[in-house]
Amino acid sequence: MGGDTNSAMNSAQPSASVRASVSVRPSASVRARKRLRFLRTRLRELRMIGKALVSTKHPILVHIIPNRRCNLACTYCNEFDDFSKPVPLEEMKKRLDILAGMGTSVITISGGEPLMHPEIDQVIRHIRSHGMIAGMITNGFLLDRKTIEKLNAAGLEHLQISIDNAVPDEVSLKSLKTLDTRLEWLAQYAVFQVNINSVLGSGVKNPEDALKIAHRAIELGFTSTVGIIHDNNGQLKPLGPRETEIFEEIMTLGKRSFSRFNEFQHNVARGREHNWRCRSGSRYLYICEDGLVHWCSQQRGYPGIPLTQYTPEMRHHEYFTDKFCGPRCTVSCVQQVGILDNWRDPQTRKPKPMAPPPVPAAQLVQIGTVRSDS
Ligand code: SF4
Ligand code: SF4
Repeated sequence: MGGDTNSAMNSAQPSASVRASVSVRPSASVRARKRLRFLRTRLRELRMIGKALVSTKHPILVHIIPNRRCNLACTYCNEFDDFSKPVPLEEMKKRLDILAGMGTSVITISGGEPLMHPEIDQVIRHIRSHGMIAGMITNGFLLDRKTIEKLNAAGLEHLQISIDNAVPDEVSLKSLKTLDTRLEWLAQYAVFQVNINSVLGSGVKNPEDALKIAHRAIELGFTSTVGIIHDNNGQLKPLGPRETEIFEEIMTLGKRSFSRFNEFQHNVARGREHNWRCRSGSRYLYICEDGLVHWCSQQRGYPGIPLTQYTPEMRHHEYFTDKFCGPRCTVSCVQQVGILDNWRDPQTRKPKPMAPPPVPAAQLVQIGTVRSDS
């Protein structure tokens, strides 16, 4: 467990128990601002879909990492360290300028824990200054009223928190119990959309927790999604009968959000391979803290080319590249992006050989245990 974990928890004043029946109502002013931001974001999302259908030349979604460090240490996670420094703001701005120049529609800030970046609000402002949609994936432990107000003012549009269990255990502290107070603050003060992702799959002790988390999310006015994680080297493994029931119930609860476009997850839940075209490296990019482009968080190292040298021709090549990991992929955000292009342009190209790899071999992550935030 990282050294910051305890201090994060102590400053949180978490609720003593899971207060699943408490509902929190925002003020009239927060409700009005939230409604306005929701409508504006929805309009821009519709524009984003239209643009994606008309042209295949630009990235639709980019995940960018402002710092690899995290204040937690979930045992299934391969996407954090406990020492690295944040990427300087000026460097982040340069990367965002390049992404804007490519015509990117949505930027999601991920990590590590992005709220550990001291100028994260400036990063969000810069995304918005280019007219791109700004989202963030966080573990939520550093959220307080002041931080939420800062994110409001910066123009954040989407925030996702993934919650792993009802009470913390040796695998993950991201529990309803430790986070419930913060969820209430979000319900009261946030004017951006909040999605709570719960998880099912091997390694999750109590599948009923996912249902509790999803119901609490809806009660607080958030959207709810469910992710499926596997801990056996990414091999699809069907959910058990009760897990499948819970999965279907949460999918029904999640019908309010754009994240509902995740029908492929029905295949994942049943352990079936799925037929789709992964457009990572082209329509989806993962930009690590070193400024390198990767297929996704689970295939870091491919293509591993600096963003500054990543040409339209390279994106074009990746658009038509058949990804060997596609049929067993559990990375939901890339599959959602893929929906917009699955109906066109079969993939016939093979990945280019990498020589020499810019990322040390030890950092190459083959598809495996998927971070539940993905
Ligand atoms: S899953 Fe998220 S919160 Fe947990 S260690 Fe990884 S980055 Fe940190
Ligand atoms: S793991 Fe999934 S998202 Fe990543 S490159 Fe493979 S198919 Fe695409």
